[in-house]
Amino acid sequence: MSRFTRATVNVSALRHNLERVRALAPGRKVMAVVKANAYGHGLADVAHALSAADAYAVATVQEARELRGAGVNGRIILLEGIHRADDLSTVSELDLDMVVHDHSQLQFLANEHALTGLKVWLKFDTGMNRLGFHADELPEIYQTLLDCPATAKDINLMSHLACADEPDNEHTRAQIARWQQTMQRYPGEKSLANSAGILVWPQTHADWVRAGLMLYGVSPVAGFVAENHLLQPAMTLSSELIAVHQVRAGETVGYGATYTCPEDMMVGTVAIGYGDGYPRFRRPGANVVIHGRQCPVIGNVSMDMTCVDLRDVPSAQVGAEVELWGQQLPIELVAQWADTIPWVLMCGITRRVEMEYVAEQAVPRPAQVC
Ligand SMILES: *Cc1c(COP(=O)(O)O)cnc(C)c1O
Repeated sequence: MSRFTRATVNVSALRHNLERVRALAPGRKVMAVVKANAYGHGLADVAHALSAADAYAVATVQEARELRGAGVNGRIILLEGIHRADDLSTVSELDLDMVVHDHSQLQFLANEHALTGLKVWLKFDTGMNRLGFHADELPEIYQTLLDCPATAKDINLMSHLACADEPDNEHTRAQIARWQQTMQRYPGEKSLANSAGILVWPQTHADWVRAGLMLYGVSPVAGFVAENHLLQPAMTLSSELIAVHQVRAGETVGYGATYTCPEDMMVGTVAIGYGDGYPRFRRPGANVVIHGRQCPVIGNVSMDMTCVDLRDVPSAQVGAEVELWGQQLPIELVAQWADTIPWVLMCGITRRVEMEYVAEQAVPRPAQVC
């Protein structure tokens, strides 16, 4: 191996986090949301690690195919359903559940005369206005699905929350009210909560919860980190110093010469950049961890490298391990420094980053405040 930039995924932490979901939503079934390459953690490896989940949820037919190809036999739900009529045969062949959220999808089903027993989740819109039917058209659509020869007759229902990550939010209260009014009219299993719903809004748990972010050991709630919810971060992104040098007072560091050294100081160069998915921070304040200490990122992050201030770790040498986020440094903090959200950071890890899987009981990390 010639480059040490890697994402280490702790499968024990994934399993621990699934147990946390079960403890928070006792008696409910859990969909492990593994779309987008399991939020950058590796689709098949994560699915195998989370085989105790009741089902997996993905966004695309390709993701479902990859899971089946990797020997995953569990139930798989396509969160957006299908977008082409000929995907119905794939749904049947791979034994997938599909969300139905649009009239075009109803049409595909109505035109299908060979397949039977297709499992559907009827999605209704409680106020996110992204996917789903309106409450007033639901009775008719529900009946259409019941009458359709292609579909299984135990029709499930789902909706999605727009603002569940904000405790005490009016919009969420309105969505829950619409959900409760409408849902009680239908039999079938129901699902509303994402991670934030699981953590913040117990009244959204219904029959199935859909856990994404929290399974990876990350808090969806602003101002909180994993430890506040007794979650364990699953991914640690790390690299190493490939250069250590002294830079004189008044000299600048990196592209654009945006950082000026206030004194003669040691500067380290880390083998990671935006080409690996590390964010290009637009303002100062970001840190990495070297020898257990937070060291400031200085200057602009470049494609393959990032410069750091080594004044607090004078013993750091070429080859020293650098943590960008994970066990010692909450990704929630890095996301704040980058003016983004943890979902974006994790999904942005590129193919150049080596993935490594370990099973270790995590050393508890003190909760830090964002
Ligand atoms: C991605 C997704 C989830 C998971 O959301 P998290 O906030 O990551 O837990 C749940 N439901 C639907 C419909 C989704 O698209």
